[in-house]
Amino acid sequence: MKILVTGGAGFVGSHLCASLLESGHQVICLDNFLTGSKANIAPLQNNSHFELTEHDIRDPLPAGHYDFIYHLASPASPADYSAMPIETLLINSIGVRNVLDLAVAAKAGLFIASTSEVYGDPLVTPQTEEYWGNVNPVGIRSCYDEGKRFGEALTVAYQRRYGMRVVLGRIFNTFGPRMRADDGRAVPNFINQALAGQPLTVYGDGSQTRSFCYVDDMINAFKLVLHKVAEDGAADSSWRDLPLLRIVNLGNPAEMPVLELAEKIKAMCKSDSEIIFQPLPQDDPLQRRPQLDKAKDWLGYEPKVGLEEGLAKVIDWFKASGRLSR
Ligand code: NAD
Ligand code: UDP
Repeated sequence: MKILVTGGAGFVGSHLCASLLESGHQVICLDNFLTGSKANIAPLQNNSHFELTEHDIRDPLPAGHYDFIYHLASPASPADYSAMPIETLLINSIGVRNVLDLAVAAKAGLFIASTSEVYGDPLVTPQTEEYWGNVNPVGIRSCYDEGKRFGEALTVAYQRRYGMRVVLGRIFNTFGPRMRADDGRAVPNFINQALAGQPLTVYGDGSQTRSFCYVDDMINAFKLVLHKVAEDGAADSSWRDLPLLRIVNLGNPAEMPVLELAEKIKAMCKSDSEIIFQPLPQDDPLQRRPQLDKAKDWLGYEPKVGLEEGLAKVIDWFKASGRLSR
């Protein structure tokens, strides 16, 4: 298949591009390197089935025939999006519109990378797809949370009007090699602090929870989506008769307090660093755990990589890549 991956030079996108190429697909990576990097896709550049288009998704997208589009382009780390709030809102509104227009014109199946952040600071746990969320519309995370919620609303409106085949994947915390050492997220922060002998910075008292998914499991879920959408009909004239809208949580249900994550990483890095406590950022969700029944029933998805196994790979990667400077 001919597949467009927006945000393909980012952390998750670069793993997706590599995996799609391995499965024999033709991959067009579209990125403007706002938070991604050329280094992430350097190993793919010699593959004749790989193409890079440097483009900002806020600008109308070049027309093209695609069988499927994965839309991932957006800042994702709280440090990134709170430094670029207006950009983040426009990327997740105008950018999503441009992707939807392209998908309609190309009659392509579409996966939109949404997020567990649409649930905000959730009042129910685990979070099911039916939960409407608890989001502060004017807080420091709102550029991302409300941006992604708008992107979902726009997608559903397009789907209702045009009968597209589209999947909204609500992605929960995902980690793996190629996260930027300085992107501010907990896993790269703690690993790089531990390896550099610096204090591990736990925000708040560290009792807030997250559920961490290793990137290989997430990519497996993305590819199961492709398989399912393709099963529902090729991108041909019959596609309008086969509309599809799925909203599905993707992640790993193993939930743990952030302090426990810091302690685990410190031990795995055999580090003498101390753990220090810093103020909890505004609206930092206190709990997060996906209900994955839909992903299991519809996709046959189940995460396979345990937290320690995944962390060991990322620690080795940061050691080997030399990306320790902050
Ligand atoms: P990332 O920042 O590593 O990758 C995002 C990519 O999008 C980068 O390569 C960046 O340069 C590109 N991009 C940003 N703005 C762009 C624009 N205007 N035009 C073109 N390209 C642009 O982030 P990631 O962790 O790989 O996340 C990928 C997607 O998954 C994002 O949509 C994010 O919201 C979603 N997501 C990720 C997680 C996670 O834990 N990693 C969790 C929930 C949702
Ligand atoms: N966090 C932390 N120290 C850090 C970075 C993050 O305690 O150096 C906390 C953060 O406050 C949040 C959790 O770890 O409660 C996960 O943060 P991350 O930025 O990885 O993802 P998100 O908040 O988007 O889930």
